[in-house]
Amino acid sequence: MDRKVRVRFAPSPTGGLHIGGMRTVLFNYLFAKHHKGEFILRIEDTDQNRFVPGAEEYIFDCLKWCGLQPDESIIHGGAYGPYRQSERKDLYKKYADELVKNDHAYYAFDTPAELEEKRKQTPNFQYNQSTRNVMKNSLTLCDDEVKKLLATNTQHVIRIKIPHDETVGFTDMIRGAVNFNTTQVDDKVLLKADGMPTYHLAVVVDDYLMKVTHAFRGEEWLPSAPVHILLWQYLFGLENMPEWAHLPLILKPDGKGKLSKRDGDRLGFPVFAMNWTDPKTGELTAGFRERGFLPEAFINFLALLGWNDGTEQEVFSIDELIKNFSMERVHKSGARFDFEKSKWFNHEWIKRLPVSAYLATVKQLLQDAGVGVTDDEKLKTVVELVKDRCILLTDFVQQSSFFFQTPKEIDVNAIQPKWNEQKQQFFAELIRTYELSTLWQHEDLENSFKELAAASQMKPGDVLLPFRIMLVGGKFGPHVFNIAEVLGKEETLTRIKNTLQLLQ
Ligand code: GLU
Repeated sequence: MDRKVRVRFAPSPTGGLHIGGMRTVLFNYLFAKHHKGEFILRIEDTDQNRFVPGAEEYIFDCLKWCGLQPDESIIHGGAYGPYRQSERKDLYKKYADELVKNDHAYYAFDTPAELEEKRKQTPNFQYNQSTRNVMKNSLTLCDDEVKKLLATNTQHVIRIKIPHDETVGFTDMIRGAVNFNTTQVDDKVLLKADGMPTYHLAVVVDDYLMKVTHAFRGEEWLPSAPVHILLWQYLFGLENMPEWAHLPLILKPDGKGKLSKRDGDRLGFPVFAMNWTDPKTGELTAGFRERGFLPEAFINFLALLGWNDGTEQEVFSIDELIKNFSMERVHKSGARFDFEKSKWFNHEWIKRLPVSAYLATVKQLLQDAGVGVTDDEKLKTVVELVKDRCILLTDFVQQSSFFFQTPKEIDVNAIQPKWNEQKQQFFAELIRTYELSTLWQHEDLENSFKELAAASQMKPGDVLLPFRIMLVGGKFGPHVFNIAEVLGKEETLTRIKNTLQLLQ
């Protein structure tokens, strides 16, 4: 291929962005960057009835969060704009007219009421080659009548005239040869009564005008492919037609059917990239970002939903993905979504990334939970200490709050049953030892703790858990002497003393 690679993501701004859509973004992006090409984002808003305010901004926000920025879009500009189809309305008509002129399309004057009536009479009614001859269109009406109807601006649409019994085929980059018999295909509307193109006409015209070389989209668009191929053939010849790839579905965790927004609600995991609030109903659909996912992990697990590089490698940075990605290694069959696995990726990325990559997010999460952090250096130390225990970024709240504020509750019930005079003595002694200590590194604290335990003829194990609960409030957290080191002498002693009081 000697043309510069140009791909497009072409969402309709009708609501939140499902992970299936985000994966389409990602594969487009990876393919474009792998081939040093361009990634276009085109807004397909020709169905004005489905327009949802805020959906466009939301799409851009999701892409920004993931770092998958388009080279051309309504925001980024570019030489092939406008990038919003509703603003391109006027340029589609001439292609529809040309199709009519060449007998590949026709005017259809059936009113919505007439179509409704027809659908009532004939269940599963399709406007197609076997029914168009009994409908009110330029194939059945005489020329004068058609001229008159057009001259009087009678409402009409333009439909493609699907040929009879032809084979239309193409080579899908994932599926290989795909063929359709045109007898099964309906006469889709190309231009609507309001002069807006439908998706079918707009996608072909825009892919042509925007010099798209490869078109990747979800498998649900495969049945529309014969219409698009015929349009390419009739309007532009097949030569410049993009290569197609229909991406496999993302399946429910049990593998039975396409993963839907409802499955996420039902099973308790997000399916959108970011939180989305439906402006009409106010309904909130959870997003991966707010659930505590890192964009690196999100991209990583999305890439592996339907693709692998042929090795055992699972953790990939965006640069590695760009380097290794190829459409030929995308599987034909659906990819089952596994939330536990996606969390595993997040954990891996929390451990791998420098904490500076997510420190600000953790700080914000703590703040939202009412834990003010003023000392960023301390936060960094804490995050380093606890990061191995955090699977989601939201886990940092529980794992780090006690470093910044006295635990609200101390789980004394976990200490009480085994509490005795000897332990009471030990901690009283520990307070004296630590008070006198001039060194406050975790090694020193551990040594003196263990020496004191030995001198008191106690196993360190017997007093370590109470010590942890005194500092943390519960049975969790990193190495307890690291905790004491970060808390500092005064705070450590206060927490021991306070708990001793509770135990009396
Ligand atoms: N506008 C279509 C959608 O919302 C895009 C399909 C395509 O990429 O051709 O999914």
